[in-house]
Amino acid sequence: MQVLKIQDLQNLPEFSGRTSESSPPFFAVFGKPINHSLSPKMQNAALAEMAKTDSFYNGSKYFAFEVDPSDLKVAIESLYSKNFVGINLTIPHKEVIMGIIDDFDPHAKLIGACNTLLRAKNGWKGYNTDGFGLERAVEIGLGRKFENSDIVIIGAGGAARAAAFYVSAKNCKSLTLLNRSKERLINLANDIKDAGYNCNTYSIAEASDKIPQGSIIINATPIGLKETDSPVLDFSKISQDVAFFDMPYSNTHITSSVQSAKSFGINAIDGLGMLAWQGAKSLSIWTNKEMFGELMYRTLKDNA
Ligand code: NAP
Repeated sequence: MQVLKIQDLQNLPEFSGRTSESSPPFFAVFGKPINHSLSPKMQNAALAEMAKTDSFYNGSKYFAFEVDPSDLKVAIESLYSKNFVGINLTIPHKEVIMGIIDDFDPHAKLIGACNTLLRAKNGWKGYNTDGFGLERAVEIGLGRKFENSDIVIIGAGGAARAAAFYVSAKNCKSLTLLNRSKERLINLANDIKDAGYNCNTYSIAEASDKIPQGSIIINATPIGLKETDSPVLDFSKISQDVAFFDMPYSNTHITSSVQSAKSFGINAIDGLGMLAWQGAKSLSIWTNKEMFGELMYRTLKDNA
């Protein structure tokens, strides 16, 4: 995958002649690191499909830029001036952006993190599609819905935060938060309570007897990204009727948590579907078109 720098907007002929009114519309993802991102593959596959029925998107492309957080403001302004219509933000930009723009969809504002920027009349508007992506992936991959379910989230970082607010807003039956460090756990729990929802908090170490029967367990930590990682929980101590969703994914191995959960008869999947559906939702926000989630998921699977 080609990784671009913001200076390439001036240097490369594909961008240098563009103005704020140029066509076709372009799209991008910002991250650091970004070289392993699978988003350009799945977004470009969807844009090519879209162009078959709408010539406005003929030649539209989605690019990956490596951007330092200290350059984020300049970077979003530069893309605005070249008629980029949508930007995805990944680590470490999702929270940094909250201090840079001030127009946010209420859900992104509540979470305090944003992964999608839409070109608006006078600047960028921020959204967060992670919760939606998670919900679709859980429904399709595990056959479960958040409404009226007991939800257990492991982690208290940005992804856990998005998940916790999303499942709360979807009227889950109960929410249990587990985290390694106490401080982050309490901060998230306080924010959830300030927003008018309820949750229980425990350390990961004391988790096994705190997990309600039949719950949906969501791992929102990076544990499992490395092939050598141990499973995030001791699944031998957890009842078989839970469903387990692992946000990490890998195109080289089955995550250790999914492998372990399955070996104890637990319904479990990794985060590839979430990646596809959060991206599908972003593209739909940018283009006002249907979602290309299945196509994106297939593209990811084919490249795994
Ligand atoms: P983050 O803000 O850095 O938060 C990481 C969380 O994981 C923190 O709660 C941290 O606990 C915990 N953690 C990290 N290493 C740990 C360890 N060795 N043992 C126990 N807990 C540990 O990261 P994030 O943005 O929330 O993302 C978390 C993961 O979710 C990412 O690695 C990514 O793979 C995945 N993700 C996937 C998708 C998708 O589309 N599938 C989308 C978003 C995120 P402490 O508070 O104790 O440090």
